Amino acid sequence: MVVFSTSQSDANASVQSTFASRYATHCLPKYRLGESSIPKDAAYQIIHDELMLDGNPRLDLASFVTTWMEPECDKLMVESVSKNYIDMDANPVTTDLQNRCVNMIAHLFNAPFGEHETAVGVGTVGSSEAIMLAGLAFKRKWQNKRKAEGKPFDKPNLVTGANVQVCWEKFARYFEVELKEVKLSVGYYVMDPVKAVEMVDENTICVAAILGSTLTGEFEDVKTLNDLLTAKNKEMGYDTPIHVDAASGGFIAPFLYPELEWDFRLPLVKSINVSGHKYGLVYAGVGWVVWRSKDDLPDELIFHINYLGADQPTFTLNFSKGSSQIIAQYYQFIRLGFEGYKNIMGNCMANAEMLRKGLEKMGCFEILSKEVGVPLVAFSLKDSSKHTVFEIANSIRKFGWIIPAYIMPADAQEVAVLRVVIREEFSRSLAERLLSDFEKVMKELEELPSRIAQKVAQITAAEGEVKGGEGVVHKKMSVKETEDGVTKHWKRRLLDAGRKKTSGIC
Ligand SMILES: *Cc1c(COP(=O)(O)O)cnc(C)c1O
Repeated sequence: MVVFSTSQSDANASVQSTFASRYATHCLPKYRLGESSIPKDAAYQIIHDELMLDGNPRLDLASFVTTWMEPECDKLMVESVSKNYIDMDANPVTTDLQNRCVNMIAHLFNAPFGEHETAVGVGTVGSSEAIMLAGLAFKRKWQNKRKAEGKPFDKPNLVTGANVQVCWEKFARYFEVELKEVKLSVGYYVMDPVKAVEMVDENTICVAAILGSTLTGEFEDVKTLNDLLTAKNKEMGYDTPIHVDAASGGFIAPFLYPELEWDFRLPLVKSINVSGHKYGLVYAGVGWVVWRSKDDLPDELIFHINYLGADQPTFTLNFSKGSSQIIAQYYQFIRLGFEGYKNIMGNCMANAEMLRKGLEKMGCFEILSKEVGVPLVAFSLKDSSKHTVFEIANSIRKFGWIIPAYIMPADAQEVAVLRVVIREEFSRSLAERLLSDFEKVMKELEELPSRIAQKVAQITAAEGEVKGGEGVVHKKMSVKETEDGVTKHWKRRLLDAGRKKTSGIC
């Protein structure tokens, strides 16, 4: 019989499972190592049961990250789960598969290297690691140049839009580079290239443009940025480069918008990152960074491991990691080819369009995402005086859907949006069901009293108490007062949510 812990204190918390009582007769401590072993079936069952309460990854429309792969690829991944990627001498084939992937991606992004040259790039855990590496390369290159010129090299900065993904803020803080963010404005949610170039100075290590803004999926105008920055560099004697964060758009643009110039076709673009686990169609744990040429990756950042006489250069933040994701990426590349990726991305776009049209037809939403971009629909409420997007996000959850609501970064904080990311595994029939669930939620919310108005009444009463000290006399508010109260409450909510910034979206 399982002995259930009666103590409520964390130190004594235990893991309990009724199934496990078939195998185990004692309770397991939750935060300390158990005294003795338990049967493998019990361990499996206990963990399996507890995990049932996690969300269903396929219904998580908040994330760009792949949640479905073909069973053949699942099989390959399980077969390679015990291989440590860094043991390049033991796993020369895995190393080779990674190099093939780097070359395929560099070609896809139009890197200018000859038929007999190899691309410069590396597989990473995700775009975050890729961006740390690219940022370090820029910082080191800039420092070397400043040192050679006898100029100060202690105040590097990086120019981005305020819509950057949190990993850029991490890079800036961890590697001590000032982040200069171009502010957004209501109706314009990406980096304005004109303002970005204005911010560039002699200490700018690079301008980072995003191909597929995390917030709205919109592509930033890298071509205009390249042209404006070329002119500024010439005028000021700088050589400020561009990095493109193509975490989500890197596997969209080459297939759907081959004419769009955003990659190495633009001379100032020196490095590009892409998440293999987003539209690269691999489970979480793989990203890529490629450089334009060897010259763009300072040699001193590369560590040379000498196994079996072969020189294996490495440039990553950590040492050991699994091989499965690299192998899975290679599987997707050879399995799908250009045609396969194009079909899948086209299908995602068609589903996004269907969803966008359906939401538009409901009449209460304004669509913020563009028709060209990453397949997602970002939308806000036309009228937020009664209910908010946060309430919608909460309500739609009971149908199983996970949809994030968030407020835009500075200076567009008054806009709050919902975002639905369309992945390959989000089929047309699921999209139709989602639309009908949205309709149900909106109908339900309309029938409910506005929680905001109630809250405002409470706040106003509480303020009256504090200020006037006349007890809780509920005076009836005029229409104007109610509206002002609603706006005030709404702004406060947005600011509170804003402090949390982009939490829950990735
Ligand atoms: C997702 C994302 C990142 C972070 O990528 P990971 O692969 O999750 O580390 C960076 N930038 C953008 C634009 C993203 O969408």
